[in-house]
Amino acid sequence: MHDHRRLGRELELFDTDPLIGAGLPYWLPAGAAIRHALEEYVYELERQAGYQHVHSPVLAKRELYEISGHWDHYRDGMYPPMRIGAEEVVLRPSLCPHHALVFRHRSRSYRELPLRIAELGGMYRSELSGVLGGLTRVRSIQLNDAHIFCTPDQVAGEVAASLAMIRQAHEAMGIEPARFRLSLASKGAKYVGSERIWEQATGILKKALGDAGLRYEAGEGEAAFYGPKIDVQIEDCSEREASLSTIQVDFYQPERFGLTYLGSDNTKRRPVMVHRSVIGGLERLVAHLTEVHAGAFPPWFAPIQLGILPVSGGQQAVAEELARQAAEEGLRVDVIGAGEGSLGARIRSARLVPYIAVVGEKETESGAVSLRLRDGRQLPMVSTEEALAGILARVRSRSHDLWPSA
Ligand SMILES: [Zn+2]
Repeated sequence: MHDHRRLGRELELFDTDPLIGAGLPYWLPAGAAIRHALEEYVYELERQAGYQHVHSPVLAKRELYEISGHWDHYRDGMYPPMRIGAEEVVLRPSLCPHHALVFRHRSRSYRELPLRIAELGGMYRSELSGVLGGLTRVRSIQLNDAHIFCTPDQVAGEVAASLAMIRQAHEAMGIEPARFRLSLASKGAKYVGSERIWEQATGILKKALGDAGLRYEAGEGEAAFYGPKIDVQIEDCSEREASLSTIQVDFYQPERFGLTYLGSDNTKRRPVMVHRSVIGGLERLVAHLTEVHAGAFPPWFAPIQLGILPVSGGQQAVAEELARQAAEEGLRVDVIGAGEGSLGARIRSARLVPYIAVVGEKETESGAVSLRLRDGRQLPMVSTEEALAGILARVRSRSHDLWPSA
């Protein structure tokens, strides 16, 4: 596996600057293009599964995290409070408390449940500078997160659906998890909530893994302070393990925030909160995908999907017109002109681009194009419309195959 830090520099995906600080990378256009494609994908996946998206601030009063329990149980991972007048605000260490307030903003009925609230939002982790590096250990995280507020009877179904969504996304992105972990409380340690509730939540997670036919390992002491979880573990280029996707069952925060809904019998009831992240933090995800694919990303999230190479300056205008058409169709495209080196050198420089169109005299006269694929295949000449339609079909279906084999 390739180190994403080296590839990230080579492919100009991201960088850091001492003036911004360690653990605070910024995304360059190529990296931002990848991230944007992944964000669009997860938004679409969630919309299709009945999630509603919200936005909430990355700061809140300290009191919010005192209620959620983060201040007591997770303070080491949080930044110190900032004083504004008489108030103290902190950068959020998670999105859960905000979503609990979204649930609480008006009274809720059992008819609205399960209520699935999703957000792709910033959160902050106070890591020591010694452990920071690349995109894997950062202080600012853009997290794909969601909280499902549901009745106790609905928890198992929501956990199973979340697990299925995670596996679907992994397949689309080309991720093979290192292992599934059932993260449990460590014996004798301080956790919130009763033992009975922890057992109940653990039972639901175990059953979901079993029903999906997944092998898993139990990880004692890896649970969140508010409940057990399923963590989907990945390995980086130095075989260091990290959690990417997660599903957590939480009976605690609904109680802390006094969340209720009106049951069918008109009595107030307590919802359960299922926390889940399908693709995790965008930083860790893009680091992993860069290593897994060695920079040769599947067409749907490749930073440049189509490279257009005019053979000589005489074909520059035709190449640019083709680029305009491709961009209009929604493709990410780059014209690499004759001024940037010999044709061979330009083909080599674009070796990670899934589709290359070389535009020579023949192509200019006929209005056709022949595609060269990243895997070395050279396709017969077809009309430009046909070529673009073929690429778009592969991109839209999120296929990893560059072209159907003849
Ligand atoms: Zn959460």
